[in-house]
Amino acid sequence: MRSRLAAVAAALFVLAVIAAVGATSPPNEAGPLSVESAGVATGLRDRISVGSRASEWVRELTERAGPRLAGSPGDKAAVAVALETMKTLGFAKVHAERVVVPVWVRGSESGEITAPVSQKLALAALGESVATPEGGIEAEVIGVKSFEELQARKADVARKIVFFDVPTQRTKDGSGYGKSVVYRSEGPSRAARLGAVAVLVRSIGTDVNRLPHTGALQYEADAPKIPAAALSIPDADLLAFVLARGKPVRVRMALACGMRPDAESANVVGEIPGREAPDEIVVLGAHLDSWDLGRGAIDDGAGCGIVLEALRQIASLPTRPRRTIRVVLFANEENGLAGGKAYAAAHAAELGKHVAALESDSGTGRPLGFSWNAGPSAEPVIRAIGDLLEPLGAGELQGDGGGGADIGPLRTAGVPLFSVRQDASRYFDYHHTANDTFDKIDAEALDRNVAAVAAFAWVAASLPHELERIPPEKRTPARSR
Ligand code: ZN
Ligand code: ZN
Repeated sequence: MRSRLAAVAAALFVLAVIAAVGATSPPNEAGPLSVESAGVATGLRDRISVGSRASEWVRELTERAGPRLAGSPGDKAAVAVALETMKTLGFAKVHAERVVVPVWVRGSESGEITAPVSQKLALAALGESVATPEGGIEAEVIGVKSFEELQARKADVARKIVFFDVPTQRTKDGSGYGKSVVYRSEGPSRAARLGAVAVLVRSIGTDVNRLPHTGALQYEADAPKIPAAALSIPDADLLAFVLARGKPVRVRMALACGMRPDAESANVVGEIPGREAPDEIVVLGAHLDSWDLGRGAIDDGAGCGIVLEALRQIASLPTRPRRTIRVVLFANEENGLAGGKAYAAAHAAELGKHVAALESDSGTGRPLGFSWNAGPSAEPVIRAIGDLLEPLGAGELQGDGGGGADIGPLRTAGVPLFSVRQDASRYFDYHHTANDTFDKIDAEALDRNVAAVAAFAWVAASLPHELERIPPEKRTPARSR
């Protein structure tokens, strides 16, 4: 068996060298990886990076299921499409794991500036927002550029609509979003505590279209629930301009959204059983749900396509991985994380045997590297994976904690977490908007991501020893996207 494996690995390696015209590392530079394992991973990398079927799986999901907010008809269709796709691809143990999800429905929505000028506004209710009273709310607007400014002007907030006017910076690493998204998530409750009647936020996005970016808000238990919506960026610019002229500005907004009774959805799971240690598991995750405005192509159809194709490519190898590699397409990432929590609860007994988990939820940009969270002794192996991915331009490592919202609950069990760091320069032009459609998918960049994920998964599933788990002091919860 061993010699056959070595022969297969060697053959793949030779093919890879031919294909890559000198771009591959020789096996004696595999470092802490075995020559076999590095050879197979290199072969995967080079074969996939020049063409894969990832965008086909994204197209299947986005065209057949479409918008798929938790508990919606599209969500149900997405579960069916995912089950069918995994079965077609020949994965083992394909099944749906029941998840009870919150249900939020958008309904009709409208808004306008009524004084001192008149202008219809392009807005979208934030996920989980309550409705306005029937007929809407009309009130004076107070614009603020930070929570500090909100506090400083707190005497002026009662009975007003608070407008959080904080632009999102375009950055390659997506950090601009991390800085502004807090106004979407926390702004409504902070304004409500000071007596505001509603909230508008400048869309957490980087485009110039009149398309608002939705996304979940988080009501705090101690604050009244007030309606909240995002303004498209040109509408936010206009409102800011009108406010700056100093006269009282009034807005009318009407939202018919609200919560409905919980519904059933599912995490969709399939795997390739390990040949030697099938009870040890490498998880590749993405989320199946999406916001309702677009068709969820970049968020997170792309991630679903990447992990499905990575597993399909590994399944097509002549040798199965040593450990099990499992794809999990999670329910309800966008507005509740019920899928991630349900997976951790349902698999609590085997989390000690989860040796690594990676989530793909950063769109369709090219891979730049990996972020990771594991014990310090894992670093040489992770560096070797980085070296392996360098020819893809994906060798940059960041040890500040990988993962994603759905695999966040695995962190408390110490499961080493990873994510591919992707170029996010364009991601927030489309994220959570009606513009998140299949045409935005960059098939070539998607292939490179599949190459990175497949090579990573193969190595993680082949290591002779498990990676050191996350030290207790680094097992803090992940932040949601
Ligand atoms: Zn996402
Ligand atoms: Zn999202």
